[in-house]
Amino acid sequence: MKKRKLLVPDGMYQDIYEINTLLLSSLGKEGVIFDIDNTVAPYEILRPTKEMKDYFESLVNAGIKIAFVSNNKNDRAGIFNEELGFFCVPDASKPSPKGINRCIRHMGLERDKILLVGDQIFTDCIAAHRAKLDFFMVKPIKDKNTLFFKAKRFLERPFISIYRRLKVKNESRT
Ligand SMILES: [Mg+2]
Repeated sequence: MKKRKLLVPDGMYQDIYEINTLLLSSLGKEGVIFDIDNTVAPYEILRPTKEMKDYFESLVNAGIKIAFVSNNKNDRAGIFNEELGFFCVPDASKPSPKGINRCIRHMGLERDKILLVGDQIFTDCIAAHRAKLDFFMVKPIKDKNTLFFKAKRFLERPFISIYRRLKVKNESRT
């Protein structure tokens, strides 16, 4: 079985749009579970934009199953998902894997066919790895300008460095 490091992402991308159908099919992924805030949309965008809707549509058209898992409350996640209508777990308490496990059960796919996409190591990455899913990290769209967020981003740095070092090592091997 694949060995993952709890706090180290399995991939890093600029934004969700880089995680396209081509990449997903090359990895054999048939389902993607997305964090919402700062991964798909900044906090102040309440409903998906056309660009977001087009992106999700391209995934659905390629047969990819989609779900949302958010630590935010039901009204935020629910309003965002209203038009999209994907399976959605609000109040997910990540880094607990329980919300993710609900998504996995709903998707009915093997865990190695599902990817989790998020913007935070200490919630999304840990939760994904506890649920035995690969985790791709995207750049946070726009962080809240609070000390708490700044501290979190600072503490994430060593794990991002480990990811970069491992990537260089793997690339030099192939
Ligand atoms: Mg987030």
